[in-house]
Amino acid sequence: MNAHPDLVAHSAQTRKDIIELAPGIWTAVGYAASTVHMIEGETTITIIDTSESTKAAENILAEFRQRSDKPIARIILTHSHRDHISGATIFSEGQDVPILASHLFKSDLIGVDPNIIAPNKALGRRTLMQFGIGLTPDQRISLGCGPGERPMEGMGAGFVQPTTLIDEDCDIDLDGVTARLFHAPGETGDHMVVWLPDLKILFCGDNWYHAFPNLYAIRGTAYRDFQAWAETLGSLADLDVETLVPGHTRPVVGAENVREVLTSTREAILHVMQTTADGMDAGLSLDDICADLKLPDGLADKPWLKEFYGKATWSARAFAAGTLGWYDGNPTNLGTLSSVTRAKHITDLAGGAEALMEVATNTSDLQWRLELCDHLIALGQPAQMLKADTMETLAEVEINATARNAYFWAAKQLRAGFEVKA
Ligand SMILES: [Zn+2]
Repeated sequence: MNAHPDLVAHSAQTRKDIIELAPGIWTAVGYAASTVHMIEGETTITIIDTSESTKAAENILAEFRQRSDKPIARIILTHSHRDHISGATIFSEGQDVPILASHLFKSDLIGVDPNIIAPNKALGRRTLMQFGIGLTPDQRISLGCGPGERPMEGMGAGFVQPTTLIDEDCDIDLDGVTARLFHAPGETGDHMVVWLPDLKILFCGDNWYHAFPNLYAIRGTAYRDFQAWAETLGSLADLDVETLVPGHTRPVVGAENVREVLTSTREAILHVMQTTADGMDAGLSLDDICADLKLPDGLADKPWLKEFYGKATWSARAFAAGTLGWYDGNPTNLGTLSSVTRAKHITDLAGGAEALMEVATNTSDLQWRLELCDHLIALGQPAQMLKADTMETLAEVEINATARNAYFWAAKQLRAGFEVKA
């Protein structure tokens, strides 16, 4: 099974490791999709984030317990995404441990409230697709932000509601280690970062990781506030951080390095926003904006801005939808053709379904081939295997882990006889 060489190399960012950041302070990387951190105080321990499953949390706790046997006095959650909050029952070790989080703490995942109408099944299916659940290890080599292979037992099972909501930025004493908790909206609006000013260590949650930021997650997500995320990165860059500890991937060490990764990521977000806004102002279609969109020299070559997780073109579409909504300003798109009607028109133009199948089979433009396969499938023509083959070919050269997973996942569904439309 082939894979993009940069994506293969990126797995070094998530190899299993317990890293000592300073005496008594550790981070666990590669044991789960996300990272988990331990701060050892004079007589107690503080845990920051808890991973996505009880099994991963157990494995991490076992490692931490080899380094300290002091009781765990508190858990701090950087934000409400499920890959960070689902191991609290393990880290509390049967005790009533305070759990601190932002007063804005609320998952941005839909489906939390059963009384609210939402496409919950679509979200579930697309989450499986994004993370490649059920794929073989050589297909799912990476999540973009974490290792492809990790424990799945107790996924999402160990969540406990926060007991202490922090509504104002504040200093707290972690049993001899001074920490500042402050709100830092970014990948989610409920982010609260943990800053150790004496040690110059920052636990930044998912506001930075070693990949292009996931401004839009293909599982489906409400608009993430691009402007707020960029401003937060600017504020964090001004903190004089010497060790940046992200919610995914390995820490960044050295004040200059930290400043560079934070400021360049901020610039990348602003570039996507500005380029998209300029294109929309000029009346360009999103397809045309995306076709030309790339990071400028000076940013494009930064290893941490490669599109292992987020993607600039998806971000541009999300920015457009998040600012002006779905309508692109072209009145053609005020009307609707169903997939079948459009497919019939395209087939007529091609001179029939057989002729269209021949074009789809022979074109060297794989994106075009996928689009033609969709027309054929809409008309009941047997293009499923051609589409599956094409997605697998694209997956093998794709740098983005979530796109790779989606291509392989959807191909597997087609081969099993399911039609995947979303
Ligand atoms: Zn995360």
